[in-house]
Amino acid sequence: MKKKMVGLMLCACTALAAAGCGGKKFDNPDRGEALIMATNAAFEPYEYYDEGGQVTGIDVEIAQALADKLGLTLEVEDMEFESIISAVNSGKAHIGVAGMTVTEDRLANVDFTDSYTTSRQVIIVQEGSAITGADDLQGKTIGVQTGTTGDLFASDVEDATMDRYSKGMDAVLALQDGKVDAVVIDSEPAKQFVAKANGLIILEEEFAVEEYAIAVAKGNEELLDDLDKALDAIIADGTVKGIIDKYINAE
Ligand code: GLN
Repeated sequence: MKKKMVGLMLCACTALAAAGCGGKKFDNPDRGEALIMATNAAFEPYEYYDEGGQVTGIDVEIAQALADKLGLTLEVEDMEFESIISAVNSGKAHIGVAGMTVTEDRLANVDFTDSYTTSRQVIIVQEGSAITGADDLQGKTIGVQTGTTGDLFASDVEDATMDRYSKGMDAVLALQDGKVDAVVIDSEPAKQFVAKANGLIILEEEFAVEEYAIAVAKGNEELLDDLDKALDAIIADGTVKGIIDKYINAE
């Protein structure tokens, strides 16, 4: 059995400030140690900064619930989305939780827990745009967040010009300013971003349905197994649903 640690601590810090945040580097979280979560906190409602400057959201709360189950403290490290997989593989972080979709390519580099939720890719356009579905994206300029599945799918569109941003919101602002014709991004962040911009709409057509899961270093079976068991438990007892419902209004 894992021992319960002193008060659970949630600590947001950048990769560079990790030492000052007590972030230890080790391969396996041992009894009573921290579970370090790598994320990109610009993806509301999954991970974002609240008004108090703390990283919060669905993924943070799920990771906290998992840490609770495993008797570990949770530390959050905010970084570029593209850096998460290497952070997990280098042992800088134990888990990558970032609305991360399970893909074949990623499975070559990391292992994933069971899925904790599904999502879909959507297309955002300006109100009145001639683009009414994925077929209309041909030959257009598409804004995406670098290295995401939105980037992957949009890159397959014939004759499209890709415009890549490190934050989804920046792609959405480029759309608002008319610099790109459409943005392809995950549905829930899309709703948040569109609400913060002007004159944009989300097309109804689903671009792709995806599973979100937690990334761990390839071959870290002990951690993967612990996480899957804990995840099973917090799905079964309604914790995960409660967290998701808190952030996403039921339709
Ligand atoms: N679900 C998308 C992906 O895994 C986007 C994730 C994100 O931007 N945080 O690529």
